[in-house]
Amino acid sequence: MAEDTQTFDTSHLDIDVDIPRDIDEMSLPDIYVGLDIDLLAPGDGIVTDRHHASADRYEADDPQNQIAGQISPFTLSGWLRHGCERVLQEAGATACHPGNASADYMLKDVYERDLDAGYHEKGSCVEDDDAGCVIHDLFGGFNDRAGRVIRHPVRFSPIRRQVDVTKGEAEAHYRQLNTQVRSRNAEDDGQPLRQATRDVVGNLVGTWRLTLREVKPEYVGLLVEAIDYLDAHSDEFDMQLGGARNFGAGVVDTEIVNPLYTDAELRRVYNRAQAATSGMDTKDEVWREQCRDEFVRALQARTAARDGDLPMPATRTGGESA
Ligand SMILES: [Zn+2]
Repeated sequence: MAEDTQTFDTSHLDIDVDIPRDIDEMSLPDIYVGLDIDLLAPGDGIVTDRHHASADRYEADDPQNQIAGQISPFTLSGWLRHGCERVLQEAGATACHPGNASADYMLKDVYERDLDAGYHEKGSCVEDDDAGCVIHDLFGGFNDRAGRVIRHPVRFSPIRRQVDVTKGEAEAHYRQLNTQVRSRNAEDDGQPLRQATRDVVGNLVGTWRLTLREVKPEYVGLLVEAIDYLDAHSDEFDMQLGGARNFGAGVVDTEIVNPLYTDAELRRVYNRAQAATSGMDTKDEVWREQCRDEFVRALQARTAARDGDLPMPATRTGGESA
């Protein structure tokens, strides 16, 4: 409608992709990943402001404490990347290996084994001026080229009015869990050997903001598919978030927040006092029925162009979706 709308560049794809909304009608280049996590224990992936908190608020193990902080993008990034790799692998393609071939691996042959199981050597896809795989684009390869998706940290606070979901923030409650490491020697009768503390956040609800440095439809397609995959497989050990999964942490309910929403609508999603408007319902329908599949078709075309064994998606005919 407006004169200077920014449209999607699809010239590099071998098929016609018809996304019925322009870039500036979406939250792009930002994409919001909705997160709902009962308990998250990402090892050292939590930084808190507790040292700045006044003495009467500094009760690290008190669930009612007022401690805010950040969850590292590294923890989140590994989880997202894993989902992206699975999407490509289940489609029959291979993904860039996350590690360098020359790195030291504890187990001999582990890299070789991975190369037989859905990975290609990191960066091998960009040799000979090849365009590279989508994983390489999004997450970066070697130091000279940063990934096309910027993964921000998630700031959290236990105080809901201080949380701005349009900035990629979440309501969450930090505390330290004390766990006892007990002796397994029968003679010790299970007596505690030492105390271990770990940082956790509980009841995390909010958004993780991703920003595309370059908006290509196949990037959106891969992120959308990866988040759906992670959500559908959230109870699988491999797809959980953070390190300490052994006591039930890291199960993530997740979704891409409809990119057609305005900031006000995005806030409304996380405002328990307000229901979705009819405008939001309409946008959900447009996203589901007209936009989402087109982004995924762009991903399929890009993947098929790299891997000749995969079929190029069919051209849409008369608005019928395949
Ligand atoms: Zn690659």
